[in-house]
Amino acid sequence: MPICLCGQPHALGRRLLLASAVAAATLPMRAVTTRAQSTPASAGPANPALIEDLVAANRILYDQGVVDGFGHVSARHDKDPNRYLLSRSMAPGLVTAEDIMEYDLDSNAIDPRGRTSYLERFIHGAIYQARPDVRAVVHSHSPAVLPFADTKVALRPMNHIAGFLGGGVPVFEIRDTGNPASDMLIRNVVLGHALAMTLGKRPVALMRGHGSVAAAQSVRHVVFRAVYTEVNARVQAEAMKLGTPEFLNPQEAAAAMKTNDALVDRPWDLWKRRAMPK
Ligand code: MN
Repeated sequence: MPICLCGQPHALGRRLLLASAVAAATLPMRAVTTRAQSTPASAGPANPALIEDLVAANRILYDQGVVDGFGHVSARHDKDPNRYLLSRSMAPGLVTAEDIMEYDLDSNAIDPRGRTSYLERFIHGAIYQARPDVRAVVHSHSPAVLPFADTKVALRPMNHIAGFLGGGVPVFEIRDTGNPASDMLIRNVVLGHALAMTLGKRPVALMRGHGSVAAAQSVRHVVFRAVYTEVNARVQAEAMKLGTPEFLNPQEAAAAMKTNDALVDRPWDLWKRRAMPK
């Protein structure tokens, strides 16, 4: 069977292209412009403080049990909104500043120099295209979240710290992209856009049979959200063993999120001290 550009057998590829056309009709114009054939130019060196936060985020997410050998965290480039920064393909807990690579929003590496890229980097590029407000993205397979991705039980905010979940947590179903036998990975631009559409304007989306994504206005905020999405899932499952939880209502959740968004440096300082090499 012929293989199309997306790497799928041709019949499947046609269905993906159809899904792409649907996505194109509903996404902002710049989200679907075709990329130039020449190698995109670098935006230049990122702010060293941003790189430092991104390296720390990798280490913290491992230390806090959100990522293990898999999962990744990215930041939008501070010099160019059409570029983002993401480690080369490696375990997040081992990432250093030298491992950070630059990508365009179609997730092409700007200067790979032989370094390999994460198969699922398209998650990041697609969310940055769809969400101008987002400056950092986490993708993980954190274990307590998976039961909520795989059942029809909605993940909802258990306490004020997880107020960011109050707007609802959608679940991405990869089969809905016309892909009934995928390996579950977001391994191309089309699947990335489909996931970004499911996320919509929310901070967190689950991925059935896979994991989750979190998006936020900074690296520190996205780490906060990824950590507390996992904590909330654990606590919610515990509460549901006891009975029917009373969740924060949408107004409480929104008010709590506003308060917490001003406080993310407190846990960040603690987590960073624990997670960075001594
Ligand atoms: Mn994954």
